[in-house]
Amino acid sequence: MYIIIFGAPGVGKGTQAKILTSRLDIPHVSTGDILRDAAARKTELGLKAKAIMDAGELVPDDVMIGIIRDTLNQERCAKGFILDGFPRNINQAAVIDKLFTELRIEKIVILALEADDEEIVSRLTNRRACKECGQIFSIREIEEISNCPNCNATGSFYQRNDDKEDVIRRRLAIFHSSTKPVLDYFEGKRVILHIDGLKPVDAVSEQILEKLNNLNF
Ligand SMILES: [Zn+2]
Repeated sequence: MYIIIFGAPGVGKGTQAKILTSRLDIPHVSTGDILRDAAARKTELGLKAKAIMDAGELVPDDVMIGIIRDTLNQERCAKGFILDGFPRNINQAAVIDKLFTELRIEKIVILALEADDEEIVSRLTNRRACKECGQIFSIREIEEISNCPNCNATGSFYQRNDDKEDVIRRRLAIFHSSTKPVLDYFEGKRVILHIDGLKPVDAVSEQILEKLNNLNF
């Protein structure tokens, strides 16, 4: 089963992808990881992507889709994958849809994790990270303690730049203008499962697994 995990920044895509990868026994393919992997293996596209990223530019769609194609051809993706981080706009949606058609991949599911913007803002602005180990906590988890529960460092919690309200709101605005239309692109063409992303992590996973089970693939 080929899953595209889709949703606003901060909705918990990475967390759910990690859970699904062990429950479904298919790999979590994040665009960041496969770009780094291709660069490390010095494939032609990997080296090209690395040069572009080192120059501080965005990897163009044709390079990215080439790297996704190479990944799909790897043995570990023989039974499927959970793609995280692509497509981010309707051009990329059209490109990957064409690739699926070309490779005769039909069992494609778009998992749309849904959450209210204000809830995402409140969740993320309530996070703090440990300066020493990087572990992330909610303010509630650390309000009465001074040492990090993970590494025991003292008084080292801070708010990451990515968790600041103006940064989150900017990313949400880009999501709504560029990325959200991807769902309209796939509507009626591919299977889209709408998931309530606001429930606790385990409840979201159960909801996803139940809906995947009910698909008659
Ligand atoms: Zn720590």
